[in-house]
Amino acid sequence: MIQKDNRYKKIGIMGGTFDPIHYGHLIASKWAKENFELDKVIFIPAGVPPHKKEREVLSAEHRYFMTLLATIDEPDFDVSTIEIDRQGPSYTIDTIKELQAYYKDIQIFFITGADAILEIHTWRNYEELIKSCYFIVATREGYDTKELYKRIEKLDQKFGKRIFHMKIPPVGISSTELRNRIQQGKTVKYLIPPMVEEYIKKKHLY
Ligand code: ATP
Ligand code: MG
Repeated sequence: MIQKDNRYKKIGIMGGTFDPIHYGHLIASKWAKENFELDKVIFIPAGVPPHKKEREVLSAEHRYFMTLLATIDEPDFDVSTIEIDRQGPSYTIDTIKELQAYYKDIQIFFITGADAILEIHTWRNYEELIKSCYFIVATREGYDTKELYKRIEKLDQKFGKRIFHMKIPPVGISSTELRNRIQQGKTVKYLIPPMVEEYIKKKHLY
């Protein structure tokens, strides 16, 4: 767990598979930190991602190291192994509860991209999850912003104002596309941090 700091009032959580981490994740997190005046953003790589059963996911260790390398020079970002250390599928609701028990009086803002909120109803105990923290939803290339706003409005009607949308510079990158590019021997330069690129080469990943 990340060191407790009593000055922290608002923390952002960036959850993901990070297979591999890319500038889309980093920009969404930095923009959330700035726009919502968060004290920190904690990156939490999923141990066993419940939504990705249909394909082989890289080991948690590699995904954790890449997340660490991508955030190492950014004082606003930390990385936590809370989901990696837990047995079984990594459900966000369990993570939020664990963080709330640990940090006590803190507001948690869970950061996602548009695609995640459009399918939030498929997440474990999603109603309880929405009630238990705030959400910051970044626009994402390829996902209709109007549809996103409509979805947020519907959720607001049901749960009260808990979900905030945030416009970010469009980053047309996904980990899926990066994995495909690497498999095809194509460049991923300028799409992921240089140290992550080096790590992927060194360990012959993907
Ligand atoms: P994959 O293609 O394997 O699903 P991904 O690029 O979607 O990978 P994830 O680890 O699944 O990355 O995403 C973690 C979080 O980051 C999700 O909430 C996702 O919506 C968000 N996210 C990922 N890429 C972007 C992007 N380019 N712009 C905005 N949000 C993004
Ligand atoms: Mg994804």
